[in-house]
Amino acid sequence: MKTKQTCPVIADPDNVSPLSEHLVWMVEKCTACGICQKECAFLRKYGQPKEIAQSYDPNLDSGMAFECSLCKLCTEVCPFKLDPAAMFLEMRRDAVRQGKGDFPQHRAIRNYEKQGFSSLFSYYGLPHGCDTVFFPGCGLPGTRPDKVIKLFTHLQKSIPALGIVLDCCTKPSHDLGDQIFFKTMFFELKNYLLEKGVTKIIVACPNCYKVFRQYGGELTVTTAYEALLQTDLPATGLISGTVTVHDPCAIRFEESIHDAARDLLSRKGLQVEEMKHHRRQTICCGEGGSVGFLAPELSQEWSGIRKIEADGRTTLTYCSGCANYLNPVTPTFHLLDLFFEPEATITGKAKVSRSPFTYLNRLKLKRYFRKHLDPAISRERPKNLDTRPSKGSLLKRIAIIILLIGAIIGARAANLEQYLDQDKLRQLIQGYGALGPLVFMGLYAITPCLFLPGLPFTIAAGILFGPFWGVVYAICGATMGATLAFLLGRYAGRDWVKQKLSGPRWKQLDQEVEKHGWKVVAFTRLIPLFPYNLLNFAFGLTGVKLLHYIVASFIFMLPACIAYILLSSSLLEALKGRISPAFIVGLLAVIMVSSIPFFYNRYKKKKDNKS
Ligand code: SF4
Ligand code: SF4
Repeated sequence: MKTKQTCPVIADPDNVSPLSEHLVWMVEKCTACGICQKECAFLRKYGQPKEIAQSYDPNLDSGMAFECSLCKLCTEVCPFKLDPAAMFLEMRRDAVRQGKGDFPQHRAIRNYEKQGFSSLFSYYGLPHGCDTVFFPGCGLPGTRPDKVIKLFTHLQKSIPALGIVLDCCTKPSHDLGDQIFFKTMFFELKNYLLEKGVTKIIVACPNCYKVFRQYGGELTVTTAYEALLQTDLPATGLISGTVTVHDPCAIRFEESIHDAARDLLSRKGLQVEEMKHHRRQTICCGEGGSVGFLAPELSQEWSGIRKIEADGRTTLTYCSGCANYLNPVTPTFHLLDLFFEPEATITGKAKVSRSPFTYLNRLKLKRYFRKHLDPAISRERPKNLDTRPSKGSLLKRIAIIILLIGAIIGARAANLEQYLDQDKLRQLIQGYGALGPLVFMGLYAITPCLFLPGLPFTIAAGILFGPFWGVVYAICGATMGATLAFLLGRYAGRDWVKQKLSGPRWKQLDQEVEKHGWKVVAFTRLIPLFPYNLLNFAFGLTGVKLLHYIVASFIFMLPACIAYILLSSSLLEALKGRISPAFIVGLLAVIMVSSIPFFYNRYKKKKDNKS
């Protein structure tokens, strides 16, 4: 039997070692035998671990590692037990250190994580003599709050001083390579618990398990499933039937947890038929490593395999993330669904909440524990821990407020209040003849190149020029701006733009334009999948024809332009309390165009799940 080859630089899990050492290790040890590549679509896309390590260029390939699910199936099947996932994680960390690991597509998962450790959602309740806490994670409290309460109450029977910690283990940041932030947040949590005498954590989420196991130090961690086996199971009755099991990849090497899940199912009366990939050889559900945000096709490859292997059987898992991700693809439920709602689960009707209700559930759960637990010590997570710059949003907000205050003071000082009258404003602009619209369009045209938002100009067009001419001038200004940025991207700033757009999503845009041409321009004007200003430059690097780009931009930016101008052309009147029919129509139009991305995402998700 081959022994596990642990790269010396990753023997210490806390070590943030130079990427170069990982690369050298992989080049030396990997024989490029192809075994792991057969199992993994990511490796089939980018090459064998040895080849990737040999040719890795951090300037060009920094986005590539974010497409690996970090699932470690490669390690399990490797004859030498090499660990390519550790190398890819280090590439992610290196990209973050170089300032190249920040993808707008990850904003959703980062915000989700941020809610988890916010003072609003977090809660620690430690009764007298508490040395053990239940840590349900983020997913389970949101989707299955009633089951968290039932599980806690059940465990409390054998651990009367059981405490509760509603918080986030910060694994998303860990996996996205933001090691400094991860450690700041996790070690604060860990040190607080140790300081308060807690020595044991019971987790429900395999990802939390992995984090506590790797970084928890003196804290011992066990899963709720192992803990359940030590109790008389909840008296919810036996059930018969055959199910299959999806083992979460985060605990691939934890055989005692795989056993516990199967023991629980068998004690419930169910037969387990294994899928091809199970236990140590399990596969990712598709959600691992946040891959779906950058490479949805790779993520769907994993869930597609699960669908084939499940072959219509009900799948049970013990990770709420896996259950939620797989359920639309193949009927998948959480072990806790089965324990607390057996009949509904086996007939596919278990109660599972979806976003945005998940946030409400977490607040309700916090209120429940506040009301029903009598803690000796309690807290919410301190507010000042997240010191990361908030992408300028706070600065932008402050700047806008200062500008607004300045504008009001300036208007009063100059006795311009009279011009806040819509009709007078329009008369004033008309007084300048053709110069007014020309200056307006000129200013609008330079906003994309200065990375300024165009929306304030669109709104101003409605106020200054009215609904008809407002649309004409705004769409002309916006199209001129988009064209200017396109030309700069194509002819002047190619190197700078290339460097900015090295991520896989931008490469995908290039491929899509090659296949579908101007239709991609039309589509991205309707559905803002990319940051607007950067997108204009990016199109300059693609092969789309200039004329096609201008026409598609003009036509497909029109709907949003019309909606906002309808609204803003009667905005000043509305602010004075005079709501006109045009304002209501404009408001509805804005809601409609703003909903297009939402409905598109739902449609795409449904379509992806069907295929
Ligand atoms: S960790 Fe998973 S996704 Fe990444 S290379 Fe290994 S098998 Fe492929
Ligand atoms: S299985 Fe191991 S030795 Fe073979 S290509 Fe993969 S990492 Fe290299």
